Amino acid sequence: MPYFFAYNDRQFVRRGQIVAATVVGAGQGTIRVNSNRVGSRHGSPRISCVILVLVIDERYSRQILFSPIGREGQEKLSNARVLIVGCGALGASHAETLARAGVGHLRIVDRDFVEFTNLQRQTLFKESDASERLPKAVAAKNRLAEINSEIEVEAVVADVNNSNIESLIAGCDLVLDGTDNFQIRYLLNDACVKHGRTWIYGAVVSSYGATMTVIPGETPCLRCIFDEMPDAGSAPTCDTAGVIMPIVTSISAIQTAEAIKLLVGDMASLHGSLLQIDIWQNDWRKIKLSGRSPHDSKGISDSESLHDHKNVFNPDCITCGKHIYEFLDAENVDFTAVLCGRDAVQIAPPKPTTIDLKTLAANLAAVSEVKQNEYLVRFSANGCEITVFADARAIIKGTDDPTEARSLYARFIGL
Ligand SMILES: [Zn+2]
Repeated sequence: MPYFFAYNDRQFVRRGQIVAATVVGAGQGTIRVNSNRVGSRHGSPRISCVILVLVIDERYSRQILFSPIGREGQEKLSNARVLIVGCGALGASHAETLARAGVGHLRIVDRDFVEFTNLQRQTLFKESDASERLPKAVAAKNRLAEINSEIEVEAVVADVNNSNIESLIAGCDLVLDGTDNFQIRYLLNDACVKHGRTWIYGAVVSSYGATMTVIPGETPCLRCIFDEMPDAGSAPTCDTAGVIMPIVTSISAIQTAEAIKLLVGDMASLHGSLLQIDIWQNDWRKIKLSGRSPHDSKGISDSESLHDHKNVFNPDCITCGKHIYEFLDAENVDFTAVLCGRDAVQIAPPKPTTIDLKTLAANLAAVSEVKQNEYLVRFSANGCEITVFADARAIIKGTDDPTEARSLYARFIGL
């Protein structure tokens, strides 16, 4: 319902911003600028001593009533920028929660497209997204626009690797892990420690999940706790053990609660732990992380289950202790990845590039039925279904053999 306001200060405001204002005939209050009603010049409407038609934003009233957030916290959320890496089960849940909470800018990066097997747990997506094979980042952006049109959502359809991770985190206040593999998490840890960016680790498989918040310089980093990646095949994956939605929402709830605490500045309420939950076995474990700062490594508390006491800030940690960024600085990166739970392999070009999808589709028409939308081209060859994105990545479904996948890529895409 529209109300009239007198806005007294001379200053620039932007869409979504919460500003103090005088409500005509009703005293002072806080309002959110609705750009649909505000004349905009060069994206930055200038408001001065005028009466505007604005809309009282009741959307966040229950959240504002929650005293640790309040009006001030809500404004901080509105001005915050968050990167969500991966938009599968965890990432989609993160995105929905933060969009509903009013986080002003979300950058969502994902390399994949929506499939029917995603719909059991990936809450932002619907059947038509899977039918159209929309990239997850794009489908997420579309859905989030329906949930909260006041925030900005940036969809990035790309593989996260050491050539782009630093530019992806640039300008973001916080990074949320929504990925499904340790390779990217170690890369994320490198980049965030290097740039002093807080990130929130989260992982789920089967009915088990884990999360911890990494504040570079203040808490242990991922490699303080897990100094080496698990050997291939040694840990269960979504491919071998499946995954159920309740553990996804549980871990995402903890990650996003931490994100909101961080964004509103309530550092004292962070859980300061490696949290592990098995939602099916009813096993909840909180392993307190010590050493909130390098000068505060006071040892172990309720953590005897970690025999090697890795839950402390580790001055010998290769990443946050020695500042050697193995994953970020790697020169020979394997751009082939077997995808979790997909019977599929991704091939990425070794250097950033783009491909003309229309030309590719025309060339392939002679050898296969080709389907395309503005984001991708899909065709079949050798019993595999091959999807090619505009950044020249391909996902080859129907094989878990990287050699076969590379061969098909070379034959049909030819970069
Ligand atoms: Zn570390």
